[in-house]
Amino acid sequence: MKMKIAFDCLPGGLRKAVTMSFDDGKLADVRLAELFRKYGIKGTFHYNSANVGKETYVTDAQIREIGAYHEISAHGATHPFLDRLPVPVAMQEIMDDRRYLEPLAGKPVRGMSYPYGAYSEELKTALRAAGMEYSRTIKNTSEFDLPQDFMEWHPTCHQSHDIDGLWQRFYNKKKHIRVFYMWGHSYEFDRDDSWARMEAFCEKIGGREDIWYATNQEIVDYVTAMRRISLSADRAYAYNPSALDVWILAEEKPVRVPAGKTVNLEKEING
Ligand SMILES: [Zn+2]
Repeated sequence: MKMKIAFDCLPGGLRKAVTMSFDDGKLADVRLAELFRKYGIKGTFHYNSANVGKETYVTDAQIREIGAYHEISAHGATHPFLDRLPVPVAMQEIMDDRRYLEPLAGKPVRGMSYPYGAYSEELKTALRAAGMEYSRTIKNTSEFDLPQDFMEWHPTCHQSHDIDGLWQRFYNKKKHIRVFYMWGHSYEFDRDDSWARMEAFCEKIGGREDIWYATNQEIVDYVTAMRRISLSADRAYAYNPSALDVWILAEEKPVRVPAGKTVNLEKEING
């Protein structure tokens, strides 16, 4: 009898992840990064490198500090409509971000969000060639599914959405991998006087044992590793060629397939 296998688990055998994605690098990022950290929530901050250090924008030192816990990501050096630029210039915008941000992050910057949410097929191909592994759009889905193509990663909702209602719908889902993915701009909390509302929301959703709090890139890395798992034809063995542990469901039971290892699933299930 062939085992029932599903690629439907996050790290630790969890089903749900929360991730945050905030653009433009205004000074309110510092407060928002701290708020997330207080409740154990991880986020990704997308920067326009040409604006860093200008009045009302974060400084190098602040980016370094935010990056110690959260993810530092790109957003186009000068915040252009990337899809309206010649492709080499659009690539330059992202390479400029990488060159500026990577020394602050202390690691390669492999992700971004599209300024104004604007993209095209040609642009996606070019940005992949510039080292990008994901890019967030501004198309709110009110859903929680993983994207087929991470270069077109549609978020769940904007920060101004009826988040409590969405959260309840998300939290009630028990099957399959689900990601609650919020995006926005930290300065909007100042503008709309909505910090207290956001803090109440973070308090509600943070610190839960059944949720994986991850940066955008951590989700991409895990899902990429999961999609690379090889199964033997009889489904008895799973091989994980990646550098991350992956959990898969065998007969409804989460089984850890350690990085670089082969696991006998039948043995794991039958003991
Ligand atoms: Zn922006």
